[in-house]
Amino acid sequence: MRIMGKQAVLFDLDDTLLWDDRSVKEAFEATCQAGAEAAGVDPEQLEEAVRKEARALYESYETFPFTKMIGINPFEGLWANFREGEQEEFRKLEQLAPGYRKEAWTRGLRALGVDNEELGAKLAEQFPAERRKRPFVYDETFRVLDALKGKYKLLLLTNGSPDLQREKLAGVPELTPYFDHIIISGEYGEGKPAASIFRHAMERLGIEPDHGIMVGDKLTTDILGANTVGMTSVWVNRHGAVRNDEIIPSHEIAHLEELLLLLEQ
Ligand SMILES: [Mg+2]
Repeated sequence: MRIMGKQAVLFDLDDTLLWDDRSVKEAFEATCQAGAEAAGVDPEQLEEAVRKEARALYESYETFPFTKMIGINPFEGLWANFREGEQEEFRKLEQLAPGYRKEAWTRGLRALGVDNEELGAKLAEQFPAERRKRPFVYDETFRVLDALKGKYKLLLLTNGSPDLQREKLAGVPELTPYFDHIIISGEYGEGKPAASIFRHAMERLGIEPDHGIMVGDKLTTDILGANTVGMTSVWVNRHGAVRNDEIIPSHEIAHLEELLLLLEQ
């Protein structure tokens, strides 16, 4: 099946163009290795415990509904500074973040029987540094963008905190110049799947829903939002996830380069 008559391609960023999963995983591994050596625990168990404690803690804050609406996950909270963004909640997050990081790591250690706040604080600062060292991008990202550039208007539609998403982009400086527009949910004020941010994107592009195509890895945000406004959606399903019939993408691909076959005219 070919997709015809499109003028613009809207891309999600994390785990669609940027390999954020791998960055986070490797940052956890490096930090947990250090923690394991210092405390005599198993690094994999420490990672699992910290992820669990971080999630629970993050969900307990009054900022949780906001972070959920904007699309900022607990592990982004472990390295974000939240210095930008106009909403009041970003100032709360900025204040919460240092304590959240320290507490998540300290509780993770404690879950393994290690009561060491000082080590928790140390690991809490190591993790952001490890994450910042690993701005991974998929091999195929630039091949795909090169093939599309000049033929379509390109827009990046990403959920997240403004300073964190910009920092991720700064980590791969070759990426930004491909895009005619970059929209970050934390700047706009509402995240995918809200129809409003998709309409905002179409306005910036000067297109109708028919003329755009949304490409992303997440059914509940990228695909649902595109479907809601009547835009063609392409689900990048790299890991063979099984979906139910609640959210049905127009197209499904296992590799980003398959997008070029769909769009080939
Ligand atoms: Mg994504």
